[in-house]
This record gives sequence, structure tokens and C-alpha cells, in this order.
Amino acid sequence: MTDDNLKLKVAAISRIRTVTDGEGVTTLVVSMGCPLRCAYCLNPITWDGTYNNFVKEYTLDDLYNELKIDDLYFLATGGGIMFGGGEPLLNYKFIKAFIEKYKDTGWKFNMETSLNVPIEYLKEVVDLIDFFVVDTKDMNKERYELYTKGDYERFLNNLKFLLDKAGSDKIKARVPIIPKLHTDKEYEENSKMLKGMGIENIEVFRYIMPELRKKVSKEAFENREVFLSSIE
Ligand code: SF4
Repeated sequence: MTDDNLKLKVAAISRIRTVTDGEGVTTLVVSMGCPLRCAYCLNPITWDGTYNNFVKEYTLDDLYNELKIDDLYFLATGGGIMFGGGEPLLNYKFIKAFIEKYKDTGWKFNMETSLNVPIEYLKEVVDLIDFFVVDTKDMNKERYELYTKGDYERFLNNLKFLLDKAGSDKIKARVPIIPKLHTDKEYEENSKMLKGMGIENIEVFRYIMPELRKKVSKEAFENREVFLSSIE
């Protein structure tokens, strides 16, 4: 497949963001697909494309043409693009090709990821990304797997690889305080472990449990019910 045939399914594009994505003004590109099933997921439409009428498909040039409206903001502030999701690393081929094609724009290319993908995906883009925001969920294997249904070892191995390859200056860890899963004690444990690994840039935030109706995503609704019944 040539790069021109690559396509990215995008659930949303959010412009003129500041503070949360690293340096400068950024535009968040929310791509489809996620390997995790977090009990309080805010974005279950990215799981399976149930709401396909919201999802747009972009070629490399289509996406560039949509994002370039903020070129001056990016250049003036040192900002650029934040690839998010869902899990953007599932779309590493598109992202790699996009950055290689548009690296001369002077934009920053950042990524918000849960890192729960085969390490080969991460290896393909690690040298191209300027700044990573890592959604850590939890640093305890049992709690992590209960909450995300994902493989903790895969996440942890990828985090170690990222630290080694990119360095801690390029990483911010997002550490949530998750209702019913965390008290301040668990949050402190999580932060301590991340600091022990050498990550200093840690952003704490409290999840607000989103209202979730069955008709929005039956899978997400049932997933949360199972989670809540298993910890009560
Ligand atoms: S990582 Fe978790 S919260 Fe984010 S989209 Fe996937 S399931 Fe939802």
C-alpha cells in the first residue's frame, strides 16, 4: 500500500487547545479504535465505530488540509498536533507517514497513549513523536487489569521501553484518581512507582464518572456494570 492510500478514521478534531497537550496551541485528532475497555471510558464510540455517522475518514493530505488552518498558531506558540483516541498507536502506519510527509511544517507532533499495544507499533513512531502523554490508569497489576481489561505487563514493558528510548523529558504521566478504585492511598502508590521509574512530570486528575446510557454504547454500559459489581 502506498502512503497515499493510507486512511485514518477520526471520531473528532478539537482545535485551539492549550495547557493539556504539552507546549503551545494544539489540535487533538481523536482516532478510532482502542484495545482497552476502561470501566469509565468517556469515549466508547472509539471502540467499535457504532456511531459511524460521526466518523470521518482522512487521507494524509485530507488531514493536513484540515489541520493547516491553525498553522500560524502552531508556529507562533511551539504547538502542533496531538494524536489521541481511542488508542492512536493502533494507527501507527498512518501517523508515521503523516509525520514523515509533513515534518517540514515545523509543527510539534505529540501523542496521548495508553501504551497497551504490541511494542513494534511503538518502535515505529517513538523517534518521530516530540512529546508523549501516557494514560497510566493504574500501576498495580490487579487494579489495572480489573479497570481496563488490558494486559498490565504489556503496558509496563512499553512504558519502560519508552522511558529508555525517549527519556523522561519527553513524557508526562497522567495519573487518574478513579472513583471506587482509588483513594488517595492508591494514587500515592501509583505516583511513587512512576517517580521511582524516573518520571517527574505527573499530572493528577480526578475522574468524574460520566453519565452513560445503554443506547450510547451497550458494551460500555455493561462493562461498567460488571466492573461496579465486582468491586462492591
Ligand atoms: S484507553 Fe480507556 S478511556 Fe481511553 S478510549 Fe480506550 S477504553 Fe476509553
